[in-house]
Parts: sequence; structure tokens; C-alpha cells
Amino acid sequence: MGLQDIQARIDASTTEAGRAPGSVTLIAVSKVQPPERVEAVLAEGHRVYGENRVQEAQGRWPEFQARFDGIELHLIGPLQTNKARQAVEMFDAIHTLDRPKLATTLARLADERGECPDLFIQVNTGEEPQKAGVLPAEADAFIAEARALSLPVKGLMCIPPVEEEPALHFALLAKIAARNGLEGLSMGMSSDFETAIRLGATHVRVGSAIFGERAYT
Ligand SMILES: *Cc1c(COP(=O)(O)O)cnc(C)c1O
Repeated sequence: MGLQDIQARIDASTTEAGRAPGSVTLIAVSKVQPPERVEAVLAEGHRVYGENRVQEAQGRWPEFQARFDGIELHLIGPLQTNKARQAVEMFDAIHTLDRPKLATTLARLADERGECPDLFIQVNTGEEPQKAGVLPAEADAFIAEARALSLPVKGLMCIPPVEEEPALHFALLAKIAARNGLEGLSMGMSSDFETAIRLGATHVRVGSAIFGERAYT
């Protein structure tokens, strides 16, 4: 495990899938990890990171950004509308656009700022009541709605149900993206990123396999 090993496995899966080298971006999910572990991966040269809370990201990334050039931050956790401004100031990409109110808020901020992070629409492929994301049946309409607001929608994101075969969910997400002309697919985590790459992932979100288990307290 560790950065080098995961990057090597990503490269191998990308080649095996007949895809172009470098076509899969590794988002190192640093949420909850102690800063020294994050710093070690920064020192190894990795620059793309994922956090799932705006506040946690604000707490530690400005300091790393002052010391390491070229850091790219992705928000992969749910975004409350009242945190949207802080999120667009902090993140280069947001993977959890999932409702009209957030879309209109982001569009207003984009107008005001003249820029907007890359956006991924989260789809609740497992239709789990506790999980965020638009339902698969509502995805086409919501993608159109976000595009009508001129938002930079780059792709779709999903988190498959833990008990199910992730490949089915990745395939469904890829199908929805394809019929909407979207190229980005944010899917695959520590346990299933190779499957996700086989099914077209452009962004894999890998945490514990790089940094070690998260110690929630
Ligand atoms: C925590 C998290 C990940 C990373 O999970 P690992 O199993 O540690 O790789 C990926 N995506 C999302 C949305 C997460 O919240």
C-alpha cells in the first residue's frame, strides 16, 4: 500500500483497459488523516487531494498550500448551501452537486466571481434513502438544469452501496454520463478503484489504501 503502489496499480489497470496512460486522476482522500501522513504524501510529489468537509479543509490546506506548489483540492463530501461560498473559494472541483438549490447558488457565485470549480453531479445509483445524489431516473433532467445555468459540469460521481457489486453501479453511472455527453466519471475508492477504471473512471478517490486506516475519534 501507499502512494507508489496505488499509482502503479492505477497505471496497470488503465493500460489493461486499453485506455490512454494518464487518463485517470488519482484523488488522494486525506479526510481525517493526521497532517504528518498528508505531508508525507505531499513530499512524495502528489498534488491532487480530496476532502469531504469544507471546514476541515480550511483548517489545514492553506498551510500546505503555502509550502507546496500546485495543490489541487476536490470536495467529495456533501455541500450545504450556506457553505457554498467557502467551498468555491477553497476547491478546484466539487463532486457533490446534487440538488437544484445548490446549483442555483453555485451559478450565482460563478457569475459574481467569474469562475467556478469543475463540477460533478452525484448520482445515488443505489437509490439509498440515506445517501445524497440525484436518483438515476432524475439525472438527465438535473444535468440539463445545471447546464442551463451555464455551470461547468464535467461529469458524474457515485458511491455504490457497501453491500452490492460496485461494477453494476459504475456501469450505470457510465451509461448516464455517455448518453448526456459527459466525459468525467468520479468513481472507485480503495476497495474497488481497479473495477472503476475498467468501467471508465476518470477520477478515482482513494483514501485508506494510500494513507492507512482513518482513526475516527
Ligand atoms: C472517504 C471517501 C473516499 C475514500 O475512501 P477509502 O475507502 O478510504 O478509499 C472516497 N470517496 C468518498 C466520497 C469518501 O467520502
